[in-house]
Amino acid sequence: MTLIYLLCIHLRNMTSREIRDLYLKFFQERGHHIIPSAALVPENDPTTLFTGSGMQPLIPYLLGQKHPLGTRLCDSQKCFRADDIEEVGDNRHTTFFEMLGNWSFGDYFKEEQLSWFFEFLTEKVGLDANRLYVTVFSGDAKNNISKDEEAVAIWKRLFAQKGIDAKEGERIFYYDAKKNWWSRAGVPEKMPAGEPGGPDSEVFYDFQTPHNKEFGQQCHPNCDCGRFLEIGNSVFMEYKKREDGSFEKLAQRNVDFGGGLERICAASNNDGDVFKIDTLHAVIQKIEELSGGSYSGNRQRSFRVVADHIRGAVFMIGDGVLPSNTDRGYFVRRLLRRAVRHADVLGMKQGMFGELALPIIESYGDQYPELRRNENLMKETIQKEEARFRETLANGLKEFAKLSHKGISGKEAFDLYQSYGFPFEVTLDLAREKGVAVDEKGFQDELKRHQEISRAGVEKKFRGGLADTKKETVRLHTAHHLLLAALRQVLGSHVHQRGSNITAERLRIDFSHPAKMTVKETKQVEDLVNQKIQEHLDMVRKEMPKEEAMKLGAEMEFGVKYGDVVSVYVAQDKEGNVFSKEFCGGPHVTNTGELGHFKIVKEEAVSAGIRRLRAVLE
Ligand SMILES: [Zn+2]
Ligand SMILES: [Zn+2]
Repeated sequence: MTLIYLLCIHLRNMTSREIRDLYLKFFQERGHHIIPSAALVPENDPTTLFTGSGMQPLIPYLLGQKHPLGTRLCDSQKCFRADDIEEVGDNRHTTFFEMLGNWSFGDYFKEEQLSWFFEFLTEKVGLDANRLYVTVFSGDAKNNISKDEEAVAIWKRLFAQKGIDAKEGERIFYYDAKKNWWSRAGVPEKMPAGEPGGPDSEVFYDFQTPHNKEFGQQCHPNCDCGRFLEIGNSVFMEYKKREDGSFEKLAQRNVDFGGGLERICAASNNDGDVFKIDTLHAVIQKIEELSGGSYSGNRQRSFRVVADHIRGAVFMIGDGVLPSNTDRGYFVRRLLRRAVRHADVLGMKQGMFGELALPIIESYGDQYPELRRNENLMKETIQKEEARFRETLANGLKEFAKLSHKGISGKEAFDLYQSYGFPFEVTLDLAREKGVAVDEKGFQDELKRHQEISRAGVEKKFRGGLADTKKETVRLHTAHHLLLAALRQVLGSHVHQRGSNITAERLRIDFSHPAKMTVKETKQVEDLVNQKIQEHLDMVRKEMPKEEAMKLGAEMEFGVKYGDVVSVYVAQDKEGNVFSKEFCGGPHVTNTGELGHFKIVKEEAVSAGIRRLRAVLE
């Protein structure tokens, strides 16, 4: 009877909230000041887009600045790792996570840190010490840094208290600087003179799942087979690199600890699937409810992507990052769009995406009140983004179907991204489902090239038009090029563009011309554009030095500054006869045959010598 009772206590799952509260209270009782989580958007740090660890906002203090709240701090920090978007789908990777942290700035060191963390895990969370494994720094002979025997001795004693003989190579594992050393610059060789760093010691939980030999002959804590999960890392900043490249001990030694709240929670559930912890499971249940399917089998991957991405997006919006096409906002957009795709795979009801924010706000709202404050904004933003994406998705999927027979080139993937607002991840996902390859490097090269050209300033040419890459806008953009060339042919070479604006509904062009256009001229221009549409001209993009483009007579917009290398779009027939060439960053349709019927709807004056036309495609 007693035995069964104890067993029940041990197997009781803890919620993330319970573990977070226990952790903060535990360290508060040991003299730590609890600090609030910093925002996901780092303050005063232009080098990174998102806060990715608990340490990040505290780096100035680890480097010696005095913290106003003293030498012992702890917190639970919101973190987002953009690099992990692709990894989400297995049982452990998430983009957003909470990192539990505690710090000593020249105060306590290894003895206290390792003992406290071990006590917290075994006594407070109730993990079985037999399931815990630790790693320590093996030393670096080249740089004359010894192995971390101090940490080893402490671990042996702590395990012994639980009746466990912690042998090296069985319970305690040595790894080199690549795994068990921390400095801002990485391994000791890479550290500049004056830089602090030191060994670290990680704790792993053993889920006792069978080892998979694909990952190596022997299983060990850092094996990727899924048996072991790292749940916490204590960094001991005790060295400084000298001018001559050797290492000396620091006068002020710091501790930086970071532990994954979700992972500790998964360990307390004794289930390696972090998506089964309370906070994420609440979202999974909501998805089950809205899709009518259960979280099992090969559907799990899509469930996880939706749950992770919606949570990441909710926290971003809570910190004021809204979906857009630029830096941070683009990550929110990617998260939401990828989530919509996976929700569709699960057959989730359309238009219900905003609903998924609710279980997240419910689980986290007490700890992170910014989520509650922004509840309406959050639902609206998510709903709107879902609707917007569905529009582009319908068009993009048609294009994808045309492309995906053999494999997808970098250029094709880029066009989907550029012209249809198709996130690259969606292309990857779709390709994976169809079993075709995508040239990822080719895509990255295209993207990089495009970004360089954008920086060259060409993109400014279509303010308001270019940022919108809807199919309709793209078609009107191409029509705009044909129109300018037609105006120059009909009215004369004195015609130059003086302004433009393109939406999904119509185009507008301002151009230099001294008189009102006659009805006959307007008709001629219209007919010429329609003729060129029917000739099925190719829209070809070329990059060239600015000088060369000017020699070719490419049309430039007045007052726009261009870089040294420019992008030029040419409309030409199969024999290479050029009808139009303009400095332009795109995007365009690939062939003018896609445009339909062109019609000028209005002609008017803007100012002396400048006329304005509005036109549509029917
Ligand atoms: Zn393994
Ligand atoms: Zn253009």
